[in-house]
Amino acid sequence: MSSDQPPAPEALHIRNPATGDVIASVPAATAEDVDRAVTRAARAQTRWAALAPAERARLLRRFAATVDAHTEELARIEVKEAGHPIGNARWEAGNVRDLLEYAAGGVERLSGRQIPVAGGLDVTFLEPLGVVGVIAPWNFPLPIAAWGSAPALAAGNAVLLKPAETTPLTALRLAELALESGLPEHLFQVLPGAGPVAGAALVEHPGVAKIVFTGSVPVGKKVMAACARRVKRLTLELGGKNPNIVFADADIEAAAAAAPMSFLDNAGQDCCARTRILVERPVYDRFLDLLVPALRAVVVGDPSDEATEMGPLISRDQHDRVSSYVTDDLNTVCGSAPEGPGFWYPPTLVTDVAADAPVAVEEVFGPVAVVLPFEDEAEAVRLAGATEYGLSGSLWTRDVGRALRVSRGVAAGNLSVNSHSSVRYSTPFGGYRQSGLGRELGPDALAAFTETKNVFISTEV
Ligand code: NAD
Repeated sequence: MSSDQPPAPEALHIRNPATGDVIASVPAATAEDVDRAVTRAARAQTRWAALAPAERARLLRRFAATVDAHTEELARIEVKEAGHPIGNARWEAGNVRDLLEYAAGGVERLSGRQIPVAGGLDVTFLEPLGVVGVIAPWNFPLPIAAWGSAPALAAGNAVLLKPAETTPLTALRLAELALESGLPEHLFQVLPGAGPVAGAALVEHPGVAKIVFTGSVPVGKKVMAACARRVKRLTLELGGKNPNIVFADADIEAAAAAAPMSFLDNAGQDCCARTRILVERPVYDRFLDLLVPALRAVVVGDPSDEATEMGPLISRDQHDRVSSYVTDDLNTVCGSAPEGPGFWYPPTLVTDVAADAPVAVEEVFGPVAVVLPFEDEAEAVRLAGATEYGLSGSLWTRDVGRALRVSRGVAAGNLSVNSHSSVRYSTPFGGYRQSGLGRELGPDALAAFTETKNVFISTEV
């Protein structure tokens, strides 16, 4: 380890964000642990890649079934360590199961091509990369652990997963479930640890062929620079400041009813949160009149309660960060939230704010949205793009031509019309500009974990 690396913590202390109590302590991986894990993973990968594709698919389907059988348990862990409402947490466990099944279905369909050439036969092979490092954030610890891992495994790779410091518990359980399902030992290992220690060691390790990083833009840039030094393959899923554009011709009731949970889901700690609500001037007042009571009706509280729609923020630090954006000079409308203990923040709308104010252009990562008026379609597109991000966004209109024009005009990877849905395991997900690099999920997810090899066989010798 070089001398400028911070000392490795010996353990991670995991807190329940709804109460602030420590619920578990987990040994933290060192750079040496990462090194040992890479060696073991490389051996396991060689055997895994040599298995018949049907056998790999069968084991991944079994892993999916094991996850399915443990849905409630995984969801309860997610509630405790991440503060997600139980209903959301069950969806997240289901997303992991679905993605494993989908990836398993791809194992036997992952194939190269035969390309017409003169003088012989030309074929391409899609070969696994080897050992893949997946570095996950704390906001969706369970699904994001799987987004990188499931297709990487399906494509014949081994995976070393580094969960976030605050949320390693579901990932650790997933690794146990993988073993119970019959996946080879060391093929899928979880390395909880500090980002600058265990995460950096994965990124720097010459035996790790690709990094899938999901997290903040500043850390993503560091990871990208480190990968560049080794020409290491890289997928980046970074932040977002996503527009929700409401045109005057839209179903305003439906748009206003859907707007609160489009940015309050996971207490706004969602890279796809629609936190820039842009409303066409003629319907601005009416939309706000409908939005405010809808916001106040959102049920904020104990995440293990079935009725809860929004839980706490993840940590004291995150609470401080969100609070720093909502300065006293801003015009706000708030819902309610429990008092402490725990890291609670109320649903908050900011109105009458400059379109380039920090709260309007930076990723707050909390339950805070700005509402801005716009005059016409061109201004809507300009405002939607007036951030450094380009992850997702929504537009509400009944005009099909406008829906297509604006969808093509907004520089973002995932747009929805009359909906806020951004994530499906079967469709590509990722960002334009500083929101990321590459795509996860969808039909090309497995291919992203392969190298293409072209072989030409002469027929003239
Ligand atoms: P973060 O960047 O602080 O940490 C992400 C991960 O990187 C953690 O596991 C952390 O330990 C690790 N890390 C930290 N320093 C590192 C280093 N030097 N080298 C290697 N790894 C290191 O992000 P966060 O606060 O955990 O997550 C929130 C961010 O994630 C938000 O910006 C959010 O938008 C983004 N996010 C993006 C997506 C997406 O798909 N685009 C999804 C979820 C979250």
